[in-house]
Formats: sequence, structure tokens, C-alpha cells
Amino acid sequence: MLSPATPVNELIRQEVLDNQELLDTPADPYLDVLVKIVAEMFDVKTVLISLVDRDRQWFKARRGLAIPETPRCMSFCGHAILQDDVFMIEDTHQDQRFVDNPVVTNPPFLRFYAGQPLFSQDGHAIGTLCLLHPQPKQLNGKQRQRLKDMATLAEGYLKLRHMSEQTTQLRAALSREQRKTMLDNLTQVWNRAGLEHFLPREQTRAEEREQKLGLLFCDLDYFKKVNDVHGHDAGDKVLWECARRIAGAVRPQDVVTRSGGEEFVVLTQVRDEQELRMIGERIRAAVARSPIDAGEVELQLTISIGCALAEPQENPERALKRADKALYHAKGNGRNRVEFAAFEAKPAHH
Ligand code: GH3
Ligand code: MG
Ligand code: MG
Repeated sequence: MLSPATPVNELIRQEVLDNQELLDTPADPYLDVLVKIVAEMFDVKTVLISLVDRDRQWFKARRGLAIPETPRCMSFCGHAILQDDVFMIEDTHQDQRFVDNPVVTNPPFLRFYAGQPLFSQDGHAIGTLCLLHPQPKQLNGKQRQRLKDMATLAEGYLKLRHMSEQTTQLRAALSREQRKTMLDNLTQVWNRAGLEHFLPREQTRAEEREQKLGLLFCDLDYFKKVNDVHGHDAGDKVLWECARRIAGAVRPQDVVTRSGGEEFVVLTQVRDEQELRMIGERIRAAVARSPIDAGEVELQLTISIGCALAEPQENPERALKRADKALYHAKGNGRNRVEFAAFEAKPAHH
């Protein structure tokens, strides 16, 4: 197997990549849509936005692959970033450099690869937009151009993101090492530790802006049945897709977490109960909107949501408990609905 050579500009390339604050960050709904469209456009099983990091490639967006990273030494993208054009292997079995690569001889049994490098503002290749398929394939001139065009869109989005307030905040809030432990590998949103990290901070930020912290406790309805009837893998796919739909239904600065099992907690800054309910309703509708692709089957699911506002000075964990209580009522009142739990001041002692 031929491992990728080290780019001549590797030191600065890595520095540029680190400065993007992209590695070990939650999935991005816009990039998720992009890889989905590209997979349909080229009729391939897997599409990735792969970032070539020190000793691994980490996937900022992925479609049709269940793992968040692979070693750089066996990566195809490591080769792709050494040049400027589409890097294409039509059939790995016919190529001495790749025929014995572990991703060819073992799952996912890769036969076809095409990757267009993604460049930073100052021209460093930080990763690729790439196509992977378990059968050999060819791209004609027009298709290669289309792949380059889609890569241009991804690059443009990454450049804007790099300049956004959101990225500045992320940089200030968390180091990369911390981030790594706060991401849920299954769904690529923040995990329980992420929720605990962001909960007090988001409350402070909300109060600084004279807003309130809104908490939405979301729990899929009858999810156990998905596992029981269609298997755990189908259940995992549903969780993945629900995380996409929830993140797509809220604002970029909102914090989406998978707090456990089939439960998602969303933190959002709002003015009042009405605005919070509206966001809850958007999430509910996004899950119920259309059947969810669970691999072999499409499944119609719904989600119940309990929401609450953290009062100024209130421990946000208490507000979370209130949201959980509202969720319990949403389940009791027929599911697929949003309930709000009002703050109750402690009864005065006489
Ligand atoms: P309800 O409408 O009352 O919420 O019913 P439910 O079936 O969704 O609730 P319950 O809490 O009984 O079931 C949750 C299930 O979620 C149980 C467990 O098997 C499943 N689950 C938890 N974590 C995962 C996971 O990571 N992957 C998959 N596939 N299933 C999971
Ligand atoms: Mg549950
Ligand atoms: Mg449930």
C-alpha cells in the first residue's frame, strides 16, 4: 500500500486547518445537505467532506459512512490534497497503489474514489469533497466539472463560516481537545458532556443580551419499536437523521445536543414563551414532515417536546428538570406535541 506523501507546505497547511475551528465540531446542516445532493447527483454510496488532519482524516460531513474518522496513512484524500485537480481512482483493483489498502480489502471494500481538494482562503488544501463507491465507476469531463463546482460551493461556505461570529465564539469557549470529548460519535451533535458545558454558559450569554435561555427537551415517540422491528442499525440511522432535522430547524447559534438514547436537548436564546414554543413547533414539524430513511425502509416518526425558560439566577439544571416534566405531559397528552412548563416560585413560608 502506498501511504500519502507529506505535502511540502504541511506545517502551514496544518496551522490553517487548525485555525478554521472545523475539526471535532458538530455536523453542519448546510454541509449535510450538500453531501446528500452530491450523493444523489453522482449515484454513489458515500460522499464526504474530509479534513486531512495530522494523523487522521476527520469527516465534517458524511453521507453513507458510519465512522467519524480514519487513519491518514491509508486515506485516499491524503493523496488528493497533494494536487489541485480531481483525484480519481476508477477501479482500485486495477491500481497497484491501492489494491491492498485496508479500505479496499476490508469493509467498505472501496472500488471507486474521486476527490476534489478544498482550499482555504489563502490556497492551502485542507481536505476534500470526495465520492466513494463499492463498484468501479468513471466520471466524464462534465461530471468532473460538476464535482469541482460543488467543491467550490463547499469552500465558499467554509470561508464564510470561518469569518462568522459563531466560529469566534466556539474558539473562545472550547479547546479542540475539550471539543473532542463533547461530540456524540453517532450523530455528530454535542453529547451529554457538551450539554453540561454549554448549559450555564448559554444562560449567561442569554442574560447578557437581555434574553432568556430556552430549553427544549425532545424525545422520539415509540422509538423502541424501531429497534425491535427493524434492528439497531435502522434505529441508529433514524437517530442520525433526526439530529439533522433538529439542527436544520433551529438557528446556527443554537446548541443541539444528544443528551442520551433517543433524547435531544436544544438550548436557544429567546425573548419569551411564545418564541420558545414556536421553535419547539418547528422541530416537531421537521421530524413529522416526511418519512425518515432508515436504510432498508422509510419510517414515519414523531417527536414529543417539553420546553421551559430558565429564570434569571435560576440554576439551569432546574429549568432542565422542568422541561423534562413538560415532556412527560407531552407524552401523556398524546405525543407529537410541544408542552411548556411555567416557572413556579417556591411557596412562601408563613
Ligand atoms: P416513548 O414514546 O414513551 O418515548 O417510547 P420510546 O419507545 O421512545 O421510549 P423508551 O425509553 O422505552 O425507549 C427508548 C429506546 O431507545 C430504548 C433503546 O433501545 C433505544 N436506544 C437508546 N440509545 C440508542 C442508540 O444509541 N441506538 C439505537 N438504535 N437505539 C437506542
Ligand atoms: Mg426516552
Ligand atoms: Mg422515546
